[in-house]
Amino acid sequence: MSTDPKQILILGGGFGGVYTARYLEKLLRPEEAPITLINRENYWVYQPMLPEVISGSIGLTNVVSPIRRLCPRTNLIMREVEDIDLKNQIVTISPGFRPRHLQLKYDHLVIALGSITDFHGMPGMIENAMPFRTLADAMVLRNHLIHVLEEADVEENPELRRQLLTFVVGGGGFSGVEVMAELNDFVRSVKRNYLRLRNQPHRCVIVQAADRILPEMSEALAIFAQRILRQRGVEIILNDRLKAATSERAILQSGTEIPCKTLISTVPSALPPIVQKLDCPRERGKLGVNTGLELKDYEGRVWALGDCAAIKTAAGTIVPPTAQHAIREASTAAINIAAAVRGGKRAEFGFEGLGTLGSLGHGAAVAQIFGVKVSGLLAWLLWRCIYLMKMPGLHRKVRIATDWLLYLLFAPELAQTKVAFESGIRNQHFEPGDIIFEQGDLGNSVYVIEEGECEALREQDGEWKLLATLSRGEYFGEMALLSNQTRNATVRVRTATDVLIIPKADFNKLRHSVPAFGEVFSELAEQRAMAGSLGARH
Ligand SMILES: Cc1cc2nc3c(=O)[nH]c(=O)nc-3n(C[C@H](O)[C@H](O)[C@H](O)COP(=O)(O)OP(=O)(O)OC[C@H]3O[C@@H](n4cnc5c(N)ncnc54)[C@H](O)[C@@H]3O)c2cc1C
Repeated sequence: MSTDPKQILILGGGFGGVYTARYLEKLLRPEEAPITLINRENYWVYQPMLPEVISGSIGLTNVVSPIRRLCPRTNLIMREVEDIDLKNQIVTISPGFRPRHLQLKYDHLVIALGSITDFHGMPGMIENAMPFRTLADAMVLRNHLIHVLEEADVEENPELRRQLLTFVVGGGGFSGVEVMAELNDFVRSVKRNYLRLRNQPHRCVIVQAADRILPEMSEALAIFAQRILRQRGVEIILNDRLKAATSERAILQSGTEIPCKTLISTVPSALPPIVQKLDCPRERGKLGVNTGLELKDYEGRVWALGDCAAIKTAAGTIVPPTAQHAIREASTAAINIAAAVRGGKRAEFGFEGLGTLGSLGHGAAVAQIFGVKVSGLLAWLLWRCIYLMKMPGLHRKVRIATDWLLYLLFAPELAQTKVAFESGIRNQHFEPGDIIFEQGDLGNSVYVIEEGECEALREQDGEWKLLATLSRGEYFGEMALLSNQTRNATVRVRTATDVLIIPKADFNKLRHSVPAFGEVFSELAEQRAMAGSLGARH
């Protein structure tokens, strides 16, 4: 029998993964089993407080904690997990600076890779809807909000200004409600800094598929939350869901369309792709585990927990995907892994939950703790105390408490933390009737139709003339770019269309470094100029 120490590999550095490592560090001596944790970031995110990053009531880096400090005895690899070979007990990790994969063999594996927001089958959502799970998501959303407010302040067109001041959140569970509450508070309080927006109304809409928000809570508390949000100007659309999106609007299942430039969606949840492709039993679409949290068919070797696993307590209760459960699941998994390494008593998962808490923005929350329902200011204070206590590390607690105090005393921070210019080749979805660009616009991109049909129209003396019908594989928009003129035609979408957008900077780079690419467009521009269609205006 081999006396080599057993290798423990933990995939994911969220609540499930980090807490498993912390418990294992207490249960096992270093020489008994080295612990390795793989996560794409070198920090752990305290997701329940993430929505507060939007308003800046908590500083960006105060909602995260470095994994190396949380788990000092664990070897952290900050890379992407690319493949899990359960049969051969090998995990493949993405290349780093050196373009080579890393393969790690394990004796015991913990899968705690969480879940993702999956927009597949919802046209235009990938391009236009923002998910809200990671620190990067929170940062992108905060920057975006400041951007649309800046734009709304200079916009003359009242329709476009209304669109810029409309904010839609898909999903009325905890995360959707907390995101909207923070967003609404932020926009309300900073509007006074924009001279032309002070008296402009803004519109906040939550779209929820069920007949009430917060399905995680009792009906009475959910109704209370709905009332508070509505009092604060949030519209709640029930029994409807997001179906599609364009850069101009959110489209709901019922056919309702909401013109907006900000669409956030916290639903629907799905397993991360590498977990989806695992060859093992599933339950309710997640990884099937027993009450010891061992992956079915791989007992004693693989454990799965957190949002990616379908967990039931020993009493048969279905466990919801929450942080408080993930922490307790980590304790059960760690006890059972330690037992597999050195023998000893095993544990079954039996945590039934202490309660639920949800913030509704400044000064209001809903809570249900040990069966007692609390709402309003008291629940909000309770929410803050409980979540602050749960944040590991004294100095993080002090930083958050200081942030909260400063937020009470001063106006919210309004500086945008711009880290990169939005550019790059990207996809975009358009619905019938949408205008891709208008005659007279500046030429800032070239378009390639991937799917669908568009028509190029020119307005002359009040009459619209059809210049061409464009379909899959055809390009347009090159002439205004090549000649530095404004568009001399409008392109309108005829059937649902997906295009590839090549921004001017990328188009010019490609044209100069790949001459054949440039020639295709130059020839096309010449032909179109001769035919008098889609040409630039001189
Ligand atoms: C906005 C928001 C608010 C929430 N509020 C609350 C709340 O108030 N109370 C509550 O109890 N719960 C709340 N939750 C839910 C709670 O945060 C989750 O249930 C919990 O984080 C699940 O833990 P996990 O370890 O399964 O997944 P996560 O915490 O999501 O961790 C998964 C980790 O795996 C990493 N990962 C994924 N794929 C890969 C890969 N291929 N390679 C490398 N790393 C990878 C991710 O980067 C991440 O670090 C909230 C969630 C959100 C999004």
